[in-house]
Amino acid sequence: MVFPVDHDLHCHSRLSLCSNDPAQTPEAILEHARSHGYACVCLTDHFWDSPAVPGASGWYLRQDLAHVRSALPLPDGGAVRFAFGCETEWCGGSALGIAPEHCGAFDFIVVPPNHFHMKGFVRPTDVDTEEKAALLLVERLEGLLEHPLPWPRVGIAHLNCGLAFSEGDLCAVLRAVPEDRFRATMQAFAGRGAGIELNCGCFAANRRRAGYHEDDEFRLFRLAKDEGCHFYLASDAHHPDELGVVPDIGPSIVSALGLDAHHLYRIP
Ligand SMILES: [Zn+2]
Ligand SMILES: [Zn+2]
Repeated sequence: MVFPVDHDLHCHSRLSLCSNDPAQTPEAILEHARSHGYACVCLTDHFWDSPAVPGASGWYLRQDLAHVRSALPLPDGGAVRFAFGCETEWCGGSALGIAPEHCGAFDFIVVPPNHFHMKGFVRPTDVDTEEKAALLLVERLEGLLEHPLPWPRVGIAHLNCGLAFSEGDLCAVLRAVPEDRFRATMQAFAGRGAGIELNCGCFAANRRRAGYHEDDEFRLFRLAKDEGCHFYLASDAHHPDELGVVPDIGPSIVSALGLDAHHLYRIP
């Protein structure tokens, strides 16, 4: 059975400050899902659980529980499951942007391990080379496993995100992630039932980079597959015209990774 391109489990509405697009409404997201015959779409606006989790940046302070919940109730999707999620933040140590007591407010929680463009917040300022960014990435994956999350409802976002080292060579970062430590984290995520994200928006952007090598970009996902992980597709759309990246390039990612139906992650 083929891996179905019938879902988008990470997209933003106008509530995310980096979208702020009046046209990016839950209705527009649902309409796209419906017209492409999706089984499920999940809204994942940026979220920091302030004041339950101290230490939000100025940007996150405004994106608290009341703010993301203002999208509710979501429009009735009929045959399309419209799930309510969030993309929280992860800065290492105790600085995970969602409090344990609020995990139940969401159907799905996307955790980005590599929003390293936020220097002095997500990324320590002394992480200034591709090698150090690669080590920080695996360290963050290891550290996340120490947190009491509802793992079958967690997605590990965009391992191939260009924000991991936007001033340098993303492929060099992806090559430098130590295989043994990375494999151990993926084995743990697989065992706990978390999903690994195939972020079509990142794949599309990376293909336009100078010095892009497909094997580098797929390296971590191939290791994750080898460790038994399950995967989901996502657009990470912030605007309506970005939603189409899943049907546009999702099939090529699925085929390059050799995924079939038993590799599919679904929100329980
Ligand atoms: Zn992200
Ligand atoms: Zn996102």
